[in-house]
Amino acid sequence: MPAPRCHDLLKGAETTMTKMTSLLERNTRFAATYTPATLGVPTAQLLIVTCLDHRVDPANVLGLRLGEAPVIRNAGGRVTQAVIDDITYLAYLAEQLFGGQGEPDTLFEVAVIHHTQCGTGFLADPGFRQRAAQATGLPEAALEASAVDDPHTTVKTDVERLLTSPQLSPKLSVSGHVYDIATGHLTTTLDARHP
Ligand SMILES: [Zn+2]
Repeated sequence: MPAPRCHDLLKGAETTMTKMTSLLERNTRFAATYTPATLGVPTAQLLIVTCLDHRVDPANVLGLRLGEAPVIRNAGGRVTQAVIDDITYLAYLAEQLFGGQGEPDTLFEVAVIHHTQCGTGFLADPGFRQRAAQATGLPEAALEASAVDDPHTTVKTDVERLLTSPQLSPKLSVSGHVYDIATGHLTTTLDARHP
C-alpha cells in the first residue's frame, strides 16, 4: 500500500470530526483572550471536593475562575484515602511554597460538596450494588462507600473523616455543603472547623 501523501493527510485532518471537535473550537475562542494565571496561592484560599457529575461543575455552580481553587472530583465527591492523600500533598506544597503568606495558622479551607440526585445513590440499594459488583469486578464495599443517598448525611460523614484523619494538617479547615440540583442553590450545612 503506498504511503499517504501529505496532501491526503491534511485533507483527512480537515474533514475528521470527533466528539471533541466542537470543544476544540470553544478552546480556540477561549485561548484568543486567555491570560495565564501565575502559580500562587489559590486566590479563594479554598480547595473543593465534589462529585464528578456533569451537572455540578464548580466553574458554573460557584462561578469558580482559573487560579481561584483546586478541585478534586470523584464519584459522589466522597472523601476517600486517595482524596486525603491529595489534600495532604497540596497542604505540604502550599506550606513550602507560600507558607509565609496569608494568615499564619491558615493554609486553605477544604469545602466538601455533595449533591441531590447523585448517580451514586443507586449504590445504596443492596440489590443494585451486588449486581454492579458482580458485573464490574469492583469490591462491593468500595461501591457502598461511594454511595450518596442522602447528601446531608454523607457530607457530615466525610467532613468528620477529614477532620479526624491523622494526615490532615492542623492549618487546614473543613466545611460541608449540599448542592440542590433542582434549584441550583448551594447550602452550607457545616461551618469551617479546624481539626
Ligand atoms: Zn453525584
